Amino acid sequence: MTFSVDQDLCIGCGACESTCPEVFGLVDDKSQVKVDPVPEELQASALSAEDGCPVQAISHQE
Ligand code: SF4
Repeated sequence: MTFSVDQDLCIGCGACESTCPEVFGLVDDKSQVKVDPVPEELQASALSAEDGCPVQAISHQE
């Protein structure tokens, strides 16, 4: 599973980093995906971060 963050949509709120710091990290106030592909043990957490993004900037592919 791979995740991506739409840099135009991200408002740098930090929610994804708080929920899943293993996968998401803020760089210059934009969230970046730090691991690709995301290992199975982190996928549930990463999906929670996707669900929690207030502007739907995060998406994933199987
Ligand atoms: S939760 Fe969404 S808007 Fe907030 S930093 Fe992460 S990707 Fe950006």
